[in-house]
Amino acid sequence: EAKRQGRGKVLTFRDSYAATQKRRFDVSRALPEAIRVEELVLHYQPIFNWRTGHIHGYEALARWNHPKLGTINPDEFIPIAEETDRIIALGDLVLRRGCAAAVEWTTSDHAPIVAVNVSVKQLRESDFALRVAKILAQTGLAAGQLELEVTESVFAEDYIDATRSSIESLRAIGVSLLIDDFGTGYSSLSRLLSFPVAAVKIDKSFMSTLDGSGGAVVESTVLIARRLGISVVAEGVETAEQAALLSAMGVDLFQGYYFGRPSASALKGHDMRLSTAIEPRRSAIRW
Ligand code: C2E
Ligand code: MG
Ligand code: MG
Ligand code: MG
Repeated sequence: EAKRQGRGKVLTFRDSYAATQKRRFDVSRALPEAIRVEELVLHYQPIFNWRTGHIHGYEALARWNHPKLGTINPDEFIPIAEETDRIIALGDLVLRRGCAAAVEWTTSDHAPIVAVNVSVKQLRESDFALRVAKILAQTGLAAGQLELEVTESVFAEDYIDATRSSIESLRAIGVSLLIDDFGTGYSSLSRLLSFPVAAVKIDKSFMSTLDGSGGAVVESTVLIARRLGISVVAEGVETAEQAALLSAMGVDLFQGYYFGRPSASALKGHDMRLSTAIEPRRSAIRW
């Protein structure tokens, strides 16, 4: 009886392992077509500047709904794209679409930025900055309206020679770099901040402990960022209480479900909600 149970468990484990492998294979195989026919699309989540009362910009987030495989989350397909080098084509698509969208948002009195996530593999390509420059030229977006989000792994020792020239070329053409998921990596602060970054985005994992350890991370980050003249964005802000605590700590830029979820159309999805919902909330929580 015990033996049979044990064997059953092993079989179950093997089955689920096989299923995971098959899923990875299916996702990986479907990616090129999804990129080619632009089945892979972008949603945009607003980043709100409470000091100016304006939308600072939108983060472009990849979304994929496959006819057979169903909805595939970026946390699943981005790592697969990275391992298979399909992240290069995916990254180009995301950049092109994101820049084109930002041109559409731009009016004579408002030029919101588009924040595009970029993988370390893209930055390691020797022609990455050139590709970005080309896309800016093709879409007509001002370089100052493009922000590239990279994680701390970009600044890790092993990669740095390959990425440094990309980082410097991007800076030369006027595109800014932001450190995403700040506080979750293992790099030292001084090392990270020795690179020309325009902003850090504090990881959403700190938002649930703003009255404790998360708050300590936010406060020290704001202090260092101010000294260096860089901006601080908080991501994953879900409640009015979190927004109030963050603004009291000196954070100006907010992103999270409280301010707006990612949506297919930036302009139609958020502007109304922000203008009608944020104002009363701002006064209610005594910013
Ligand atoms: P990220 O760049 O840190 O993006 C923020 C993630 O947090 C997004 O998940 C967003 O939908 C989610 N989020 C936003 N507000 C809240 C909130 O208030 N609460 C919670 N719990 N979550 C919130 P998403 O869209 O699933 O993307 C996951 C990750 O996949 C991104 O993390 C990014 O690292 C990666 N990713 C997404 N699109 C792209 C892309 O086009 N290129 C690359 N290289 N990576 C991408
Ligand atoms: Mg990001
Ligand atoms: Mg993040
Ligand atoms: Mg992330």
